[in-house]
Amino acid sequence: MTKVEAQGLVQKCGVLFANAGFTQGNGTIKRTLYADKFEEFDFETMKKAIDKLILSNKFLPSLAEFYETYQVIRKKQGMGLPARTTKNACNVCGGLGFLIKPHTVNMLPYDYLYYCECKAGQRWAYDGRIIKEDQSEFLIPSIAEYHRNEQLESA
Ligand SMILES: [Zn+2]
Repeated sequence: MTKVEAQGLVQKCGVLFANAGFTQGNGTIKRTLYADKFEEFDFETMKKAIDKLILSNKFLPSLAEFYETYQVIRKKQGMGLPARTTKNACNVCGGLGFLIKPHTVNMLPYDYLYYCECKAGQRWAYDGRIIKEDQSEFLIPSIAEYHRNEQLESA
């Protein structure tokens, strides 16, 4: 689908799902990530996937869930995805390269972005502090860091 179509669908998701999280915390990045990913899919099929997902999800599904539902619809349509996207897919991120996890800060739930340590995740491994020209505090931690923190909290 085109960028405009993808942005349209993401906007629709923001309206349909409660707590889409597109306006808080990493909201802008999250919105961009969803739109970027949607762009790789077929518009009509993704539209159907969203229609299906809103009946079973109160909150915004993860990209992995969108992808899963999308695939089910594609299969039903008899146009299975090319083998290379289903083969070798990382079982942590499903080949997306990143994961979004909720984290509570000051009693408020925020969505945080983590990159996966697989090959697909390398393009998301971004540390704004190491970029000299355009220094920023922005940092995407790895999913391993998330699990470490989870362990510390529950310990
Ligand atoms: Zn991965």
